[in-house]
Amino acid sequence: MGFRDRGIEIKTAEQIDLMRVAGRLVGETLELLREAARPGVSTKDLDTLAETNIRDHGGVPSFLGYGVPPFPATICASVNDEVVHGIPGPRTLVEGDVISIDCGAIVAGWHGDAALTVPIGEVADDVRELLRVTEESLWRGMAAARLGGRVTDISHAIETYVRAQGRYGILEDYTGHGIGTEMHMAPSVPNYGRRGRGPAIVEGLALAVEPMVTLGSKHTDLLEDEWTVATVDGSVAAHFEHTFTVTPQGAWVLTAVDGGEARLTELGVPFGGR
Ligand code: MG
Ligand code: MG
Repeated sequence: MGFRDRGIEIKTAEQIDLMRVAGRLVGETLELLREAARPGVSTKDLDTLAETNIRDHGGVPSFLGYGVPPFPATICASVNDEVVHGIPGPRTLVEGDVISIDCGAIVAGWHGDAALTVPIGEVADDVRELLRVTEESLWRGMAAARLGGRVTDISHAIETYVRAQGRYGILEDYTGHGIGTEMHMAPSVPNYGRRGRGPAIVEGLALAVEPMVTLGSKHTDLLEDEWTVATVDGSVAAHFEHTFTVTPQGAWVLTAVDGGEARLTELGVPFGGR
C-alpha cells in the first residue's frame, strides 16, 4: 500500500457481510421513505419513520448526534434548492417539490450510508430529468469500479455521464467517501476528475459514492442552521448515494435492497453479491 492509501480500512469478507446487514437496513428504510414522501407529509414525519424502522431492526441512526453542532435527526431531508444535510422539521412537502433523503445506520458496529431524491407528485420536466441523470451517474460510477482500478475511475465515469446529458452543476465541495467502522473514512470519492488516480480499488474496500448535481451552479451556501447546504443560485439539486464494494465476482451495492443486481446487470457489470 502506498502513501496515499494510508488510513484506508480494508475489510475481510466476513466484515463486508456485516456491512451488508447495515446496508440492507438503510436501503429498506429509504424504500419506506420513498413511499411515504407525499404532499402534506412533513420532513419530521419522515425522520420519525426512519428512526423507528432502524431501531426496530436492531440498528442505530448514524447521523443522530454526528458532528458539530450535533446533527439532531436520523435523516438529512433537503428540499428543492437544498442539496444535502437539511434538518428535518415542520416543513410539509407540496406537489412539485423534490426531497433528497440521506440515511445512515449502524448495525453491530458497521455503517451503511445511502441517499435518494424523490419527486413529490408531478415535477417539472427538467427536474425529473435531473433526478434521472443524477441517479444514473451513480450507477455508472459504481459500474466503472474494477479490482486493480483506481478510485477516480468512479469519479470520471460520474462526471463523463453527467456532462454528456447537458449543462448541470456538479458539486465539488462535497464528495463520496470510504466507510466501514465509521461513516466517513478515507479515501475521498470526488464526483469529477481524471481516471486512474487515487487509491487502488481492492477487495475489502467499501465506498459511499454520492453524486450531487444541480440544474444551475455547482456553488453552495451553508445556511444559518450550520448544516443545510443550498445552491447559491436557488437551482434545484439532486443527490443519490449508495455504499458499495467490489468482490472478485463483481460489484455489490450494499445499500440496495437487491444488492444492485438488476441495475448492474443492465449495465453489463457482473454482480458480486453473496
Ligand atoms: Mg449519506
Ligand atoms: Mg455519504
